[in-house]
Amino acid sequence: MFNEFFRYDGDQLMCEGIAADELAGKFGTPLYVYSAGAFRKQYREIADSFSAVKPLVCYSIKSCSNLSILKLLKEEGAAFDCVSKGEVMRALKIGADPKTLVFAGVGKTEDEIEHALRVGILMFNVESESELTAISRVAARRGVEAGIALRLNPDVDPKTHKHISTGKRESKFGIDIERAKASLKRIRELKNLRLKGVHLHIGSQITENDRHAEAIAKVVPFIKEVKAADFPLEYINVGGGYGISYRGSEGLNITDFAAKMLPHIKETGLKMACEPGRYVSGNGGILLTRVIFDKPSGDKNFLIVDAAMNDLIRPAIYDAYHKIWPVQSEFAPDAEIAGDAGRVYDVVGPVCESTDVFAKARRLPATNEGELLAIFSAGAYGMAMSSTYNQRPRAAEVIVQGDKFWVARERESIEDLIRGERLTPREVFSAADL
Ligand SMILES: *Cc1c(COP(=O)(O)O)cnc(C)c1O
Repeated sequence: MFNEFFRYDGDQLMCEGIAADELAGKFGTPLYVYSAGAFRKQYREIADSFSAVKPLVCYSIKSCSNLSILKLLKEEGAAFDCVSKGEVMRALKIGADPKTLVFAGVGKTEDEIEHALRVGILMFNVESESELTAISRVAARRGVEAGIALRLNPDVDPKTHKHISTGKRESKFGIDIERAKASLKRIRELKNLRLKGVHLHIGSQITENDRHAEAIAKVVPFIKEVKAADFPLEYINVGGGYGISYRGSEGLNITDFAAKMLPHIKETGLKMACEPGRYVSGNGGILLTRVIFDKPSGDKNFLIVDAAMNDLIRPAIYDAYHKIWPVQSEFAPDAEIAGDAGRVYDVVGPVCESTDVFAKARRLPATNEGELLAIFSAGAYGMAMSSTYNQRPRAAEVIVQGDKFWVARERESIEDLIRGERLTPREVFSAADL
């Protein structure tokens, strides 16, 4: 969470070579600040830890989709994991080779399949028999062969929050192994399909380092069967979900994690692909926000800040913990603050919802109206899940690299929010027009 990229220099929070305070002053708040160095380093850690099996590291676009972020990861050699046509288009926009794109998701539409085949992606992660049929139909129509991987549901408990668990039998994701066996027959019958891979993705923010290894071990016998049946398997895609530190040190040690998985991957004899999102982006970004009001109420003290659940929804929907600390503080971010120097706050946003809470009963240095707070580990599923609820324009995104910084996405305007709405309709229809 704190590292060479986000750290306190004396009483000042720095992102690489730039004071966070200066960025908030120049660009306003709420403001997402990304460290290019942190993204690069986190990406490289994964590529390096699995280098023995020459991994195809497909960055999960949905975790943080800014084009500049995708571009810098492509420079590092990233491939991309997409879950919609919009994400495929983002990857193409930054010049990604279509042969480095994988496409997952339980409900790909015909239009999405068509587009992905037209641009020539590497493979679809297929999640049902109906999807096999749909991809085969579209591929036959286009006269091309569609690369596919079967997304297996290995029935492993990822031991993470239930809202981000996907690898248990009862989840909507993937195909259980028995059914996958039956699907093989179906794949043979259907035209224009090439079974290139087996895919797993058991959940997100998984911090136990043996969950993925167990999942892979569970599908090795199936992979052997598929190979024995002469399908042209090339890849085992082990998905994403690698847990990071939000509190301090609960994140995975990626080297140990890789060491548990590598023997199983090697046993398959396949190339490895993976789809890390949060591991690359999570601690690559922070959200800066300014305190609007300090409101004592009943036994509580509310710090009402100018960021809200529309900017960062994770606390509201996953009960997620984010470290919060003043951008300028005489206290180190892990300091115990004695006596009146500290106070117990609920840090909340202005949105009209009682779940618009970033932190409950959190002891922080005493903070005044107008001061800046940093919400840490906000790079993943922060901006990417933001909305304009309550007609709040989305925050700007800034990237810092060394002592340089630039705007990677402008702050939205009210004009942006109402674009496409019409007070006077262009055309009025009635039932007779149908
Ligand atoms: C969301 C997702 C990922 C990335 O998950 P993280 O927890 O961010 O690493 C990878 N693969 C698939 C199929 C996903 O849906």
